[in-house]
Amino acid sequence: MPDSRLIDGKAIAAAVRTELAAKAAALRARGVVPGLAVVLVGDNPASVSYVTAKEKACAETGIASFPHHLPADTTQAELLALIARLNADPAVHGILVQLPLPRDLDEDAVILAIDPAKDVDGFHPENAGRLLLGQPTFLPCTPHGILVLLERSGIDVAGRHVVVVGRSNIVGKPVANLLLQRGADATVTVCHSRTPDLAVFTRQADILIVATGHPGTVTADMVKEGAVVVDVGVNRVPDATRKRGYRLVGDVDFANVLPKVSWITPVPGGVGPMTITMLLANTLQAAANAQPANAQPREGAAAQVGSHAGKAAPSHA
Ligand code: NAP
Repeated sequence: MPDSRLIDGKAIAAAVRTELAAKAAALRARGVVPGLAVVLVGDNPASVSYVTAKEKACAETGIASFPHHLPADTTQAELLALIARLNADPAVHGILVQLPLPRDLDEDAVILAIDPAKDVDGFHPENAGRLLLGQPTFLPCTPHGILVLLERSGIDVAGRHVVVVGRSNIVGKPVANLLLQRGADATVTVCHSRTPDLAVFTRQADILIVATGHPGTVTADMVKEGAVVVDVGVNRVPDATRKRGYRLVGDVDFANVLPKVSWITPVPGGVGPMTITMLLANTLQAAANAQPANAQPREGAAAQVGSHAGKAAPSHA
């Protein structure tokens, strides 16, 4: 029997995706084919698997994906020229550039080149700034996914003390920003690798969000009895008993922390499934914002759209 303390990211993501498929179908019925350009440079195995999963999720939801898989020796000028073409293409509502890019490429310049209206990752400085000001456009996918997980598990954040461990631009900072906005109304503390005595802070958390990329960052003695724990980390640890030679673990010592918590996200199957789901949500939002500019699918678009597009489902993520 599943543990009632587990936040089931797979089930919540599946429910949201059913709703998104209905939104996509409604857009298509109005002649708008939502489209996501997926740009991958090089063949980093993790990036290839993320990109494959994103393209598959698009197909299942009724979103056309336009894959641009470029060689590792692509130049900055070539990549920027592609971004410019995608910015100008009315069939492309969202542009996703899979990070990290090969070392010779300037990630900041590439993100800056994306039209903020197509920045479905929410990484463009304009969108990041708007989030900070409480005027969000596209919410960054992992932080937004965390909020949806909490909301759909009936966990109220208003007035609670949320401690975030990690201050990256893609997880720590934006999730802290989202939680302290009016409406969310959490009290937020952000910790990082230079925080002395991390446990002093984590033990005060009603809700503890951990995104460090290091297994075992949070152990049972660092967690308050009854806390909610959201483990964002995805780490591969060697495991000879697995066919692929490793297993995935989070940043939290799950087995020992579990007995203390009221809720916890597992790894895998917690935050992970929500990240791609919120990318789909942002792409549909971009398509809805852009219409009626794109009323016609471009050649080949329909071939990449899955069979779920016509499914009826309740609305909104
Ligand atoms: P990142 O850019 O490497 O940032 C890690 C942050 O954790 C940094 O701010 C770092 O502090 C802090 N940190 C590292 N060790 C620490 C420690 N022992 N105590 C306190 N703080 C510590 O990583 P990220 O991109 O945010 O990703 C974090 C993890 O989440 C990774 O495992 C990643 O794979 C995973 N992730 C998962 C998803 C998903 O969809 N499930 C999405 C994104 C990321 P400093 O700033 O001082 O260096």
